[in-house]
Amino acid sequence: MLYSQIIGQQEPKQRLIKMVREERVPHALLFSGKAGCGNLPTAFAFAQHLFCKAKTDNGACGNCPSCVKVSKLIHPDLHIVFPIAKSKDVKSSNDLIKEFREVYLNKPYLSLDDWFNEINAENKQPVIAVDEAIDILKKLSYTSYEGSYKIMVIWQPEKMNLDTANKLLKILEEPPEKTIFILVSNQTEKLIATIISRVQQIPFYSCSEQEITEALIYNYKINAELAKQTAILANGNYGEALSLLVNNEESVSFLENFQTFMRVALKFDPGKALTWVDDNAASGREKQKQFLQYALEVFRDCLMHNFGEKNLVRLSGAEKQFLEKFAPFINQKNYEKLITEFNDNYYYIERNANPKILFLDLILKTNELLHFK
Ligand SMILES: [Zn+2]
Repeated sequence: MLYSQIIGQQEPKQRLIKMVREERVPHALLFSGKAGCGNLPTAFAFAQHLFCKAKTDNGACGNCPSCVKVSKLIHPDLHIVFPIAKSKDVKSSNDLIKEFREVYLNKPYLSLDDWFNEINAENKQPVIAVDEAIDILKKLSYTSYEGSYKIMVIWQPEKMNLDTANKLLKILEEPPEKTIFILVSNQTEKLIATIISRVQQIPFYSCSEQEITEALIYNYKINAELAKQTAILANGNYGEALSLLVNNEESVSFLENFQTFMRVALKFDPGKALTWVDDNAASGREKQKQFLQYALEVFRDCLMHNFGEKNLVRLSGAEKQFLEKFAPFINQKNYEKLITEFNDNYYYIERNANPKILFLDLILKTNELLHFK
């Protein structure tokens, strides 16, 4: 991974490039930012930069043997720790490193949910257990294979339990020579203070709508309208934008599905409601989440429209025409209640609740709320 392949994040990238150029790399760094901001691929780009045998002004060369090894995550001095679901056969990241490489290389903007879905552990608790700390200490006690740095990337350090964290405190403070820790966190607020005080924090920001739109057009050659719509729904998370694209190949558009839902909800018709519920219950969890997210976006835009903040309305084209007709149904009183309902449903869907029961209930509640003046 090269810095140039990472969406946006000019500030952290420039800071890292400067550190390497000036040979002032701290021994423990914390890349903090929300899911899908790109802090994980940047950690590997930074590792590649440090290991590269032919560095350029903008980072790694991308071609030398070290670069090739890091780009496949097989460099012997690059160690990776990530949350696992503990079982009889899986005790630490070592036991799943092959799987991790495969998933990451295919999806560098992966989230913890993506990772757990890929290893079929959706309902298990992700942990970085104490065995992991013992492994880390062991790995770092050897000298490096290639005579330069030893880099330890810890993805989602907030999943360390207290025992694991305590075991690592001393080495984080005084690591062996030429050892660099890169903690890559999506929920920095959950890290214990004694860890935070031992690392230099590099903040990452969520990607902007424009950055995501441009990246989608450039990387996937899709049309500008679809790219923009996807970027709006992704809410700063580039990984989410890619999942949206993958799941958007079917013909039913977000708008059509939402219109049908609202028609059914406005004038409640049990037969049509059940058809909609059945169709959407069968569409899979990702699609269901997208429907809910899309609805939240429409409600938000309706409110902006009603407030006369036309330039804050993000939908365009056919969606905007629909919005003008639908906006009168949304008012300040029902807005908050609708947002709560749809957000709650998103939460339940993510946790595998029964979509048929949820959606039928959502139609009834929406019916009530749309007639609420
Ligand atoms: Zn190189």
